[in-house]
Amino acid sequence: MADKQKFSFQTKCVHTGNGVDKETGAIRRPLTMANSYRLPEDASTLNWSDPNQLVYTRNTSANQIYLQEKLAALEGGEDCVVLGSGVAALAGVFFTFLEQGAHIICSNVSYIAVYRLLKEYFPDKYGIETSLVDTSDLQAIKQALRPNTKIIHIETPGNPTTRVSDIAEIAKLARSVGALFTVDSTFASPFLQQPLTLGADLVIHSLTKYINGHGDAMGGAVIGRHELIDQIKRQAMVNLGGVISPFNAWLIMRGVVTLPLRMKQHSESAQQVAQFLETHRAVEFIAYPGLTSHPQHEIARKQMTMYSGVMAFGLKADVATHNKFVNSLAVIVPAVSIGHDESLIVYTGPNDERNHFYPPEFQNGHFRFSVGLEAPADIIYDLQQAFAECGL
Ligand SMILES: *Cc1c(COP(=O)(O)O)cnc(C)c1O
Repeated sequence: MADKQKFSFQTKCVHTGNGVDKETGAIRRPLTMANSYRLPEDASTLNWSDPNQLVYTRNTSANQIYLQEKLAALEGGEDCVVLGSGVAALAGVFFTFLEQGAHIICSNVSYIAVYRLLKEYFPDKYGIETSLVDTSDLQAIKQALRPNTKIIHIETPGNPTTRVSDIAEIAKLARSVGALFTVDSTFASPFLQQPLTLGADLVIHSLTKYINGHGDAMGGAVIGRHELIDQIKRQAMVNLGGVISPFNAWLIMRGVVTLPLRMKQHSESAQQVAQFLETHRAVEFIAYPGLTSHPQHEIARKQMTMYSGVMAFGLKADVATHNKFVNSLAVIVPAVSIGHDESLIVYTGPNDERNHFYPPEFQNGHFRFSVGLEAPADIIYDLQQAFAECGL
């Protein structure tokens, strides 16, 4: 009997979670768009909210289960819960593991919804204490630890600064105080970084980004020990209701097949583009973990196999010129999100609500740039002609 655990990441991307359809013999599991499943003859002993049994699609659905199996295998975790968006996954973690009086340490620059939940809503509504710190600074985390610290949450590389935090070292700190260590690994995907093997308790992904990879479906996932994942399913999935549509689970299952191929191309292209930008006279700063000039390049090198496709940069120019630059692009699309097939760029402007947490060079506003799967020469050409259009 073949030992499926032995297969490589690339093979798991293709096969894990798939199987022969019993009814038709099709070699792909079907898309099951159904809200309900036929009950057993005697339903009186059924747990109507069992998150692992096919009863009602808010408890779980067939396509959700297949995707959970694949993502758990890819992150090297025991279990996985898939939800309707990355934010539903993050909120599910915080809802489940924080209680009144608990303290959480979180990156001072993290996904905007995390910042709002932990800083603006949870403290007043639920009596949660939140410390926002620069998590690339281990000393700062140490100083923020309290007896009631329940979770240390990081995002690495971070959105939008690309700041990198040391997963293995923070895992040790979390363990020393018995806190749960949660890592938003969306920018890396499981192909480039494996936080569970470095000591994280839970890994969170926005599936909307690289894992689906095609910009046409939203989803979120949390991966880790069964005992933790089951609590998220029972508390946050069934009762908050942020479940994924079976169709989106099916699309993401299809997208993830090519994850290794895509991540190699995104990373190789982004490295070329970042090197081009770094040498351009009009570029004020460029933050990309693959550049040796990145402040945490050495940590990135230690914990990532490649550096993914997202960078931040700014121009030696005013706000109007930044806007003109974006609107002069022909291939790169001005739109939010990252990790799609097409290159995406956003100019935030100088009034971003978290500007005071960004490094000083970000104060004039910055571009967040997700390098897509177009030919890298065309992406660089597009930037060059936009520079020319702006007289830079
Ligand atoms: C996009 C993103 C999220 C949120 O995911 P959604 O699917 O948009 O809800 C969370 N974390 C990071 C790092 C992201 O880039």
